[in-house]
Amino acid sequence: MASECLFCRIVRKEIPAAIVAENAHCIAFRDINAQAPVHVLVIPRAHIATVNEVTDYAVVAQMHALAALVVTAEGIGSRGFRMVINTNDDGGQTVFHLHMHVLGGRRMSWPPG
Ligand code: AMP
Ligand code: ZN
Repeated sequence: MASECLFCRIVRKEIPAAIVAENAHCIAFRDINAQAPVHVLVIPRAHIATVNEVTDYAVVAQMHALAALVVTAEGIGSRGFRMVINTNDDGGQTVFHLHMHVLGGRRMSWPPG
């Protein structure tokens, strides 16, 4: 339920977060448990549980646009970075409000765990 959703509460500023960028549709903030020197989460302001529930793909474009700003601001574009959307159990999703991880500042391994 959106009223109890952790990331909706961050959108409403009921819970503090280190917000690094915002646009009309999305916000970006630092992951509280960073897995890389740069680890930012980009989320839609509207509650969407997983990427499977997206109906208006303009939302995903807005997320990508804000992520691109973050990549530039953090200076990781040319070295490289990773954008990840974990989805449901097999994807390892733990917070059920759509979010894109933007990870960078170190070399990533492949395949992912
Ligand atoms: P996922 O496992 O893909 O659902 O990712 C959820 C992410 O949210 C994890 O990387 C958590 O560290 C992060 N997270 C959980 N609570 C917070 C919070 N209050 N502020 C920032 N990031 C958080
Ligand atoms: Zn939510």
